[in-house]
Amino acid sequence: MQKVAVIGAGQMGSGIAQTVAQHGIPVLLADVDLAVAEKARAGIDKALGKLVGRGKIAIEDAEAALARITPIGSYEPMADADLIIEAATERETVKQSIFEAAGKVLSQGAIMASNTSSIPITRMANFSPDAARFIGLHFFNPVPVMGLIEVIPGLATAQETTDRVVAFAEGLGKEVVLSQDEPGFVVNRILLPMINEAIFVLGQSTANIEDIDKGCRLGLNHPMGPLQLADFVGLDTCFEIIKVLYDTTGDSKYRPAPLLVKYVEAGWLGRKTGRGFYDYSNEVPVPTR
Ligand code: NAD
Repeated sequence: MQKVAVIGAGQMGSGIAQTVAQHGIPVLLADVDLAVAEKARAGIDKALGKLVGRGKIAIEDAEAALARITPIGSYEPMADADLIIEAATERETVKQSIFEAAGKVLSQGAIMASNTSSIPITRMANFSPDAARFIGLHFFNPVPVMGLIEVIPGLATAQETTDRVVAFAEGLGKEVVLSQDEPGFVVNRILLPMINEAIFVLGQSTANIEDIDKGCRLGLNHPMGPLQLADFVGLDTCFEIIKVLYDTTGDSKYRPAPLLVKYVEAGWLGRKTGRGFYDYSNEVPVPTR
């Protein structure tokens, strides 16, 4: 890929832009407006600065990566991108309007991809100009650190599209898992029921936040407990994913935990809002229940 555009400059879009830029590819970064995209670029600057501070990358490489990221406030500059990656809020109507607008500038031969965690690729392909060039490209959080990308071809995705996207993912130094276009794909299909169940366990006062996470860390050898991980993912995103699993399968085992719904309604969305199951206002996160 010679040029990549990323739409949605939140925690995932920023991480994707940073990773792509660190691998030598120019990136256009868009959000709801230019100011948000510029703020995201400033965040990436900070993240790169931390890597320099820890001796992980050279300052010249950080500067070069940042210079490859261009915040944009309209879709026209994406006309010469080979790949447009949508990484906006996990809501189908939001994504639909993005695919329709970006589709107007998508050049012949360019690929449109979604970083959705759960929304069916085959269905969203209808919002793009060419379903054969539409695919799921599911990164993991934090993108610069995590070694996996799920690639999800929809029913109408051309083999050539899949091959090009797999090569792109591997070029970023990631391992690829191919998934059929089924609800939650592979990893979230397994992860989200666990997170949701942990929230049921908390809601039923079976144990407190600290002990639920400790139980999974030490009892299952997970690096992070499910409630801490939920905060990391974003509770709104967790809610949207489990809701998609519930709506698309009709299986009651995926019903969202009432406490998850309440947290989302309260705007306690996890790390990104400073409070979820943990309070992030201090250096060390503090459990809130
Ligand atoms: P986030 O809330 O951090 O960021 C979403 C961004 O989308 C925000 O900056 C928002 O302003 C922007 N946005 C909303 N509407 C938009 C529009 N119309 N045009 C352009 N930008 C718009 O969320 P996130 O965690 O970065 O998740 C983004 C996507 O990545 C979701 O589809 C999510 O399911 C997926 N994802 C998330 C994770 C995770 O762990 N958080 C992991 C893999 C995939």
